[in-house]
Amino acid sequence: MSLVFPVQLCCVPIASTLEETGQMNNRQARGERGNILVVDDIPDNLDLLCSLLSRKGFSVAVADSGVTALQMIEENVPDLILLDICMPQMDGYEVCQALKNNPFTKDIPVIFISALDEVLDKVKAFRVGGVDYITKPFHMAEVLARVNSHIAIHQLQRQLEEQNELLRQEIRDRLAAETALQVANQELQRLAHMDGLTQVANRRNFDSTLAQEWRRLAREQQYLSLILCDVDFFKRYNDTYGHQVGDDCLRNIASSISTALKRPSDLVARYGGEEFAVILPNTPLQGATHVAREIQAAVRTLGMTHSGSSVSKFVTLSIGISSVIPLAKFSPMSLVAAADRALYRAKLEGRDRICAEEVHYRVKDEIVLDDSDDLELSNE
Ligand SMILES: [Mg+2]
Repeated sequence: MSLVFPVQLCCVPIASTLEETGQMNNRQARGERGNILVVDDIPDNLDLLCSLLSRKGFSVAVADSGVTALQMIEENVPDLILLDICMPQMDGYEVCQALKNNPFTKDIPVIFISALDEVLDKVKAFRVGGVDYITKPFHMAEVLARVNSHIAIHQLQRQLEEQNELLRQEIRDRLAAETALQVANQELQRLAHMDGLTQVANRRNFDSTLAQEWRRLAREQQYLSLILCDVDFFKRYNDTYGHQVGDDCLRNIASSISTALKRPSDLVARYGGEEFAVILPNTPLQGATHVAREIQAAVRTLGMTHSGSSVSKFVTLSIGISSVIPLAKFSPMSLVAAADRALYRAKLEGRDRICAEEVHYRVKDEIVLDDSDDLELSNE
């Protein structure tokens, strides 16, 4: 039959695992020194140890068998256990092993108190997880010294673990904040490189991408092409339909150009008011001309009525194309200048058409446009 000493005599309830931290703080506030569970099948031993430890400021609970002890620990986890070895039904070794196998109780320090004095008994006590061993008959001073020592170690370990958990939480918080910052920065970068009205790349993005592709393709000695598109009679369009409809028109055109581009490396940008630019890396003039025709067809498919246009009932584009194998010592502006001249010619020759020029370099770092290679591609 199990025997538990009356709580009011010398025992107080022991802190539960979940409330350990808070109760530990409360305990410290009350000046209590820790919760101890004493397990022994001899009532006199229980009485003696309980009285001694209680007088020294510990909260003590007692159990007269291993089974009772395990039941009590399920309810309240002590800071330390004084555990007898020789007990009927379940000996101290088995109790200790059961505690060490349970993640909720494995860290409770267990001090064995036993009449067994053989080295092998002591070795076994440590092997099953005990932190100390006191031989019966025990001296009260020794029990107190060892209990004080292990309570202090256990409490320091818990404080350390709490501080570690705080640090881990701080690291998690910082990582989360860092990730949020990265996401915000990416969004900021995206917005900084995007045209607010048309949601395609803005001029700054165009300039940096062109410079980057210029350098890359100069290294690889591959073609770089540029398309400049201008909406025909756009001022008249705005005057006729109003600026809001004009903005819609630009958005639709930007979307159509984006749809006409098939490769991830191609970039469409709003170059100016009603001008769009398309960077086509690794693309010679022939490929760029094909893309320009696709863009022209896509805008025509939109079927946006333009009563103010002198060239069509619908919104149309004038398109200039230039193409070159870049040389690092020249500026990419040579390519832009050639596309701009081609665009100017497309307008001059009646709009709603595609004109192209290839850039040619001359010695002494000068850039010339060879007029003999001009190419006009009318869509009529
Ligand atoms: Mg015993």
